[in-house]
Amino acid sequence: MTSKMSLMVPKPLKQRYNSLCSDDELLDDDSGCYESVSVKVRPSSWNADLASISSSQNSVYLPSSGYISGSPPRDDWASADVPVMKMGWLDKNPPQGSLIYQRRWVKLDSEYLRYFDTEKDVYSKRIISTASITDVVIVGDQKFEVVTHNRTFLFRAESELERSEWVSALRSTVGVSRANACLDPEMKGYLELRGLRSKLYTVVCADKVFLYKNTEEYRLGIGITSIDMNVGNVKEIDRRAFDLTTPYRIFSFVADSDQLKDQWVESMRDSIAEALSNYEVAERIWAEPSNQMCADCSAAKPEWASINLTVVFCKRCAGEHRSLGPSISKVRSLKMDKKVWTEDLIQVFITVGNHRANQFWAANVPPSEELTLNSSSAERRRFITAKYREGKYRRYHPLFGNQRELNNALCINVQSSDVCETLALVFCGADVSCDTGDPDLTSPIALAQHHGQNLQVEFLTQNRNTELPRSEVKVNFDTVHYMAPPSITHNGFLFKTASMARPITEKKGKEEFSRRWCVLNDGNFSYYESDKNATPNGGLKMREIVCLAVNPAETHGYDHTFELYSDSERLYLFGTDNPETMREWVTSIAKSFIPAGVEDLLLKDFERIGRLRYKDRLNREMSRLGWFCLLGSNLHIRLEEHTADQIIDLQKLLELSIHPESDVLVLVERGRTLYIEGERKLDFQGWATAIQRAAGSSGDTLSQQQLTEADIPVIVERCIHFITQYGLTSEGIYRKSGVNSKIAALLEELRRDARCVWLKEGEHQVDDVSNVLKRFFRDVQEGVFGLEAHRWLSATGVSDESSRICQYRLLFSNLPRVNQATLRALVNHLYCVQRFADLNQMNLHNLAIVFGPTLFQADGKDYSAGRVIEDLIQHYVTIFNVNEQQLKKQLDEITYIIKLRDNLTPKPGSGSSGDFICTVYLEEKRETAEQHVKIPATMTAAELTFEVLDRRKISVKEKDYWCCFEVNEKEEIERPLHYQEKVLPIFHSLGTDSHLLVKKHFSMEAMLVYLASKVEVSKHGMMKFREERSLLGLGLSTGHFNDRYFILTSTSLRLYKEVRNLQKLQSPDLQCSNRPEREWPVKCLKVYQGIKKKLRPPTCWGLTVIYESEKQEKQEKQQWYLCCDTQNEMREWFSTFMSIQNGGRVWPAEWLKSRTVSRAAPLDARFGNVSLIPLRGSENEMRNSVAAFTADPLALFRNL
Ligand SMILES: [Zn+2]
Repeated sequence: MTSKMSLMVPKPLKQRYNSLCSDDELLDDDSGCYESVSVKVRPSSWNADLASISSSQNSVYLPSSGYISGSPPRDDWASADVPVMKMGWLDKNPPQGSLIYQRRWVKLDSEYLRYFDTEKDVYSKRIISTASITDVVIVGDQKFEVVTHNRTFLFRAESELERSEWVSALRSTVGVSRANACLDPEMKGYLELRGLRSKLYTVVCADKVFLYKNTEEYRLGIGITSIDMNVGNVKEIDRRAFDLTTPYRIFSFVADSDQLKDQWVESMRDSIAEALSNYEVAERIWAEPSNQMCADCSAAKPEWASINLTVVFCKRCAGEHRSLGPSISKVRSLKMDKKVWTEDLIQVFITVGNHRANQFWAANVPPSEELTLNSSSAERRRFITAKYREGKYRRYHPLFGNQRELNNALCINVQSSDVCETLALVFCGADVSCDTGDPDLTSPIALAQHHGQNLQVEFLTQNRNTELPRSEVKVNFDTVHYMAPPSITHNGFLFKTASMARPITEKKGKEEFSRRWCVLNDGNFSYYESDKNATPNGGLKMREIVCLAVNPAETHGYDHTFELYSDSERLYLFGTDNPETMREWVTSIAKSFIPAGVEDLLLKDFERIGRLRYKDRLNREMSRLGWFCLLGSNLHIRLEEHTADQIIDLQKLLELSIHPESDVLVLVERGRTLYIEGERKLDFQGWATAIQRAAGSSGDTLSQQQLTEADIPVIVERCIHFITQYGLTSEGIYRKSGVNSKIAALLEELRRDARCVWLKEGEHQVDDVSNVLKRFFRDVQEGVFGLEAHRWLSATGVSDESSRICQYRLLFSNLPRVNQATLRALVNHLYCVQRFADLNQMNLHNLAIVFGPTLFQADGKDYSAGRVIEDLIQHYVTIFNVNEQQLKKQLDEITYIIKLRDNLTPKPGSGSSGDFICTVYLEEKRETAEQHVKIPATMTAAELTFEVLDRRKISVKEKDYWCCFEVNEKEEIERPLHYQEKVLPIFHSLGTDSHLLVKKHFSMEAMLVYLASKVEVSKHGMMKFREERSLLGLGLSTGHFNDRYFILTSTSLRLYKEVRNLQKLQSPDLQCSNRPEREWPVKCLKVYQGIKKKLRPPTCWGLTVIYESEKQEKQEKQQWYLCCDTQNEMREWFSTFMSIQNGGRVWPAEWLKSRTVSRAAPLDARFGNVSLIPLRGSENEMRNSVAAFTADPLALFRNL
């Protein structure tokens, strides 16, 4: 193949050249000795003794410093690593000043676009990393442009069709995440290539050597060529010179010094060794024949593997595996990730192999869903997600669904060599870190180690944190959550301190910072001594960054500073005096480490952004990855599988606590609890501090305080509660002064974090607290009446009472939300205080005198402020539109509290003022059976039961199963609360049709006897099923009761329509081949006894089930009914539900003993175990108690 082209060649040497590289830029401006000639080029003939170089306006040629006659390059040469996506002839745009297009042989694979003089060439003229391609643009006349960050390459195809093929192939590489081969070079720097005047920037990276014109092009990802070192050999020539010999040509390099030459030679030899040894791993793994084909699409010679799922797959499938995230599939290259491939890991892959792995993973693949070589990436994603994330095609282990037996089987099996069985157990739910029951060998890993089963150890270790397949997860294929962020480039000077391993607590002075040239490119952040230096002092990869925090201005010597946290527990501090610079860096860095799918989480002026692991109510077993962004008091969260952000207003949390020993941050807001886990210490500490700070008050106005759900400052609510409980009978309340130092200290404490301050009788004095409240209102910025306080004052001038009240109502409606809520709560409180004026001597007038000047922050010289307060209290019901029924109830409750306090000598330390007073009934709902009980947040159903029984002086006998029931009169259903259930949230969730009732649970004994007789807690059988279908959301019931077959396991309730294959269903082996019509996770079901009569249930033994869907953004709620033929049947189903939902504990082991300690021990530990939600116990404690129970379930019943 020859081509005619315009060339500039050196004058003295009119010879033929082998053009290797670039064409349109000046490498050497010494053009005086060159002239432009037109020359016939026969690039495939290499000239052995050409020792010179041409360089001109238009073209730069590498010298052909050595020619080796050898076999021509193999066709698949370039595909040794990566398959070629498209290749062919294209015309490249003419160099400046010329009109003639240059004909180029162009090859594209997913990593590089290269072009050559001919198709026989091995070394390209240009190599452009596809990572640096930002766009592909169609221009006229079969032309298209390949756009990179700073250069555009124009090509012309031979036909319209060719062009469109090129464009679509190129576009498919844009924006796709890929590992840049040059991320982590062994060595880089300028080297002279003999014969060439300018030095070339040479990079030795893994198994390749790359040649670039200069550092700038290296940074941009546009090079001359790459040399595969698996065919290379390095030979030292003299003091500074050495040859890199390949079968296709010899590269004669000259280093700057002899030391540098030694380094270059060494690193290139390492690179050759690496190239060869890489093949070694792949060859060894391919020794198992089934590993020679992709486990997912059957492509030949797959070079990638998931080291935890133990499957080998091709590059295209690898991309989809990667998008599952490392918690599901840890993707490694057989050739590049050399360090990963230990002898044991290689053996695991040879032992298991694709064939046996697929016997598990792909046991039930419908032919219609199978992948082929030509499957599109969407098809691949769908299949690979279904296969590994959902476990859709799995062969279900016979023990599937029985956690205890699975764990047990795992512990036994890891002592043998059968890794395939371990794989089946683990991916059917066996817990890799379950308790073995052996005090010396506490984990399956330890067991395997002890028995010398290294491959088991290796497999278990790789799966320590793997997320199990979950079929209930529906992934939205349209949204890609964890797509790699777009490549961002940014550079400039920043000031940097030395990186550290602990949080920064002190101010860093300017002298501790050094000026560094910082470059953000291609997913790397590097800092250099100066912009002249080629070798960075250090840096970090974007994907290593777990958190970016922006410090408040002037935290350190430089005005603006930010911190980067890496996953290897290092903290980097950068600073600048220029706010613009700061903002640019922060945005660029944030954009390049958060995934593309969550970019919109990146809020302006955020304080902190990063990833954290979390658990919540719905995902207690396995923590998941979420992206968090803190802005003001709002924590924006993108949890896995949720497409929309969730926002937690930290100032409104019900509880915020940190468990230092377990590194868990617990955020309780109404309706949900979020556990944020400290995967790493350093960034977790940063988050914990920031969240705690943000949850505190942010300023001095009312709305900047910590707020309750009702928008009242927590500080106000705490004080009012305390006074209501302990102060209403105190003479001269709000008039008497407290102890000044105590008031100041308490106010300070409340201002810092009111949520954590619990006012306690005995510890705090009524008069101190009342004065704290007054002082708070006196000091609060803008006051409770806001900026229009004067209008309230002038309203007192209106003499007509009803028009005055109208005026107040109008003014009230104009107040901000928080002020409204606060004023309403305060006046309600004052109204109650004066209602008990016969006890406390504080009548309307007295209160007005005190609170007028306080609330209006005035000196009280005239009475108009007092007048407003007097009016507000006096006309409280009218002005605030109060429901009189509720007010009466409130006053009754207060009367009750006062009586209670009269009758009972106060017990020291009993309860706190933050408790709720709730109404509970004993045995039946009658007024005389009403009990007002103070309910602390920690109170369990068992404690409430004892409290009520104690009050009525009811003695409890051994077999009286007193229980607290949630009763819904309208639905005609009831549910016995589990003894450990917290009562307060249930009160919050009760509607007007429901109440709590304490009564004996008559079938408890039968339930316990039934459960004790069962080996495994699961049940299957026929029930009559009816669904509540709401028509157009009107809640009209339709449908009838129909026979359905149900299987209830530890995880799910499945419904089967077909009952013909009953035999088949009962064998768990075959269950998987029989898809249930419906399936619900057990943890989302709430089961009530009873069905409302209106539905005409066919028997009287019915259950009403409420299902609340997992997806929080949808909050789907379904209600349906199950009917059993006998009471016994119903009892068995109900006990099974209860047992499963409460980890096997249905009734406390020492029922009566628990009672005597119930008042004294405040926390969960009193029953000798820990609640399933590890709110206060560590997770280990939880596991231990569950394991102890599993080991001896009958222990529960010994005392019965
Ligand atoms: Zn494949």
